[in-house]
Amino acid sequence: MDILIVLEDNNGKIHRMGLESIAAAQKLANGMSLSMGALVMGANGNVLAEEASKYNVGEVLKINNEHLSSYSSDGYAETVKQVIERENPTYVIFGHTYQVRDYAPKVSAKLMKPFLVDNVDVSTNEGNAVFTKQMFNAKLFSDVTPTGDGPYLISFQSAAFSSEKADLGSAAVRNCTVNLDVSMIRTESEEPFQEEAGGIDLTSADIIVSIGRGIGKEENIPLAVELSKALGGELAASRPVVDSGWLPSAHQIGSSGQSVSPKLYLALGISGAIQHVVGMKGSKNIVTINKDPDAPIFEISDYGVVGDILEIIPKLTEEIQALKN
Ligand SMILES: Cc1cc2nc3c(=O)[nH]c(=O)nc-3n(C[C@H](O)[C@H](O)[C@H](O)COP(=O)(O)OP(=O)(O)OC[C@H]3O[C@@H](n4cnc5c(N)ncnc54)[C@H](O)[C@@H]3O)c2cc1C
Repeated sequence: MDILIVLEDNNGKIHRMGLESIAAAQKLANGMSLSMGALVMGANGNVLAEEASKYNVGEVLKINNEHLSSYSSDGYAETVKQVIERENPTYVIFGHTYQVRDYAPKVSAKLMKPFLVDNVDVSTNEGNAVFTKQMFNAKLFSDVTPTGDGPYLISFQSAAFSSEKADLGSAAVRNCTVNLDVSMIRTESEEPFQEEAGGIDLTSADIIVSIGRGIGKEENIPLAVELSKALGGELAASRPVVDSGWLPSAHQIGSSGQSVSPKLYLALGISGAIQHVVGMKGSKNIVTINKDPDAPIFEISDYGVVGDILEIIPKLTEEIQALKN
């Protein structure tokens, strides 16, 4: 196969960024007439393989191995390396998840092949693949064409592609084996970090209520909390809100925070600085409330209200609660 897509387990479902990687790989495959395969592994390999087989990914490679029953960077890196050596893909595509950031550099080192990270697009030019990544806080874009012998390890930034753009299809599942033994697994991972019981997962939230400096002071945060509860969403923020200590850093959206692509992103009192926008521009619907009609965030908004959030948020919450009752 020409393109190997490495899919990640998110509690028995393919990680959203894995689905986004499928969309990216399909764009590359269509542009260059390349064949694809998708790799699933670990304790949930069977259900992941079934889910992956419903996409247009060529074929699904499934690996069940006792040493992969829980995540370890050693086990995953060795597995991906062995699959690459056997299947000989030119491109190996990952979502730029925390897990991939942990183990993919090891694959790169084992194979002595470069890892082109955090791309936001792929295109083709005169028969070559061109990967686009952001530089200098997304002020510049750089196009990179890998040269020399593959495989090229490539990761895509969260929300660079829409998971809904991944073409469905029907792919056969092939059982594969790898040679792992206990001496290769030198680390044991703890449970994935969760900030608090029932903690936030902004990357898989459908609705995000995001507040900026326009919220004014810490005492106003509960207004936004109530609105996000009424909408069944998660609360997020721009950096000044986090820097002021009004919300923990896990809530920050942007180049030094999370990248998200919810169905609805409500931007409240956020100006639209590029460092914020790179983290939320992939949202399906952006609704902005800002008292400055010239705020740059309106340029990327689907709907905009010019007004005072401190007046509008409580009324909006009330209306939504009334609709639910
Ligand atoms: C290296 C670096 C990394 C960065 N990383 C990030 C990042 O990850 N995430 C991030 O968000 N920022 C980041 N920043 C900061 C970024 O440059 C901006 O300063 C920040 O995004 C601005 O946040 P804001 O929009 O909330 O505040 P402001 O730019 O101050 O905007 C506040 C907005 O609220 C509006 N407003 C005020 N009062 C009201 C009201 N009552 N009702 C309605 N609207 C009102 C104003 O009109 C204004 O548009 C980074 C900066 C640097 C240099």
